[in-house]
Amino acid sequence: MDDATNIIVAIDGPAGSGKSTIARLLSRRHGFTYLDTGAMYRAVAWRALRLGVPVEDEAGVSLIAQSDPIEFGEGADGQTVSIAGCDVTDQIRTPEVDAAVSSVARIPAVRKEMVRAQRAIAGQRSVVCEGRDIGTVVFPQAQVKVFLTASPQMRARRRARQNASRGMQGASVDEAAILEGIVKRDETDSHREVAPLRAADDAVRIDTSSMSIDEVVAAIDRLIEQARQTGRG
Ligand code: C5P
Repeated sequence: MDDATNIIVAIDGPAGSGKSTIARLLSRRHGFTYLDTGAMYRAVAWRALRLGVPVEDEAGVSLIAQSDPIEFGEGADGQTVSIAGCDVTDQIRTPEVDAAVSSVARIPAVRKEMVRAQRAIAGQRSVVCEGRDIGTVVFPQAQVKVFLTASPQMRARRRARQNASRGMQGASVDEAAILEGIVKRDETDSHREVAPLRAADDAVRIDTSSMSIDEVVAAIDRLIEQARQTGRG
């Protein structure tokens, strides 16, 4: 691997473990493409809800995933996401989408299509990619694999703060309601048949419960540097 070699940084972990914040910071710092795969499953769930397609309707939801393209863009406040030409950056973060997304993500044909699209977006670029199956399925060849964890209480607290900073209210900022939701989502994500949430055997596990954002970023920076050194041989 030389300086021109593309580096893939795979960050997996449960809801609220800090993946998005960390992945965004790392991608900016290194000039890598940021790929939020959760936003893609959320976009499909949003579209199903909007069209009145029940999330249990595997064929109907799969058709959405296969025919409605998902695109990322750059907005004033960061990355935007759209599906079928409709900007859904904010709409995909509602409690309705939170509750529906894991059911959508269990469907094999949906996952197949998302993985295909994720590999196409990453293309021949260096990426920081976050999700649940990045180190195990999407990019098993990633040079840096991290599995972030934190206690469920800490994850709910962080998510509540993050939602409040986005101007959300009600159940979206209620820590107890969020805790209940993320525990349920983790359960579904960890026990589905296809690509369940789990750490790759070669992933470095980082418990972020008592770490600052800077400390987590620094730890992953060291892994990226090691990967570069190893590649230079
Ligand atoms: O990361 P985020 O919480 O936005 O992800 C939303 C949901 O999308 C997860 O709970 C999971 O069901 C699904 N997901 C997935 N595989 C990924 C990323 C997200 O199944 N790589």
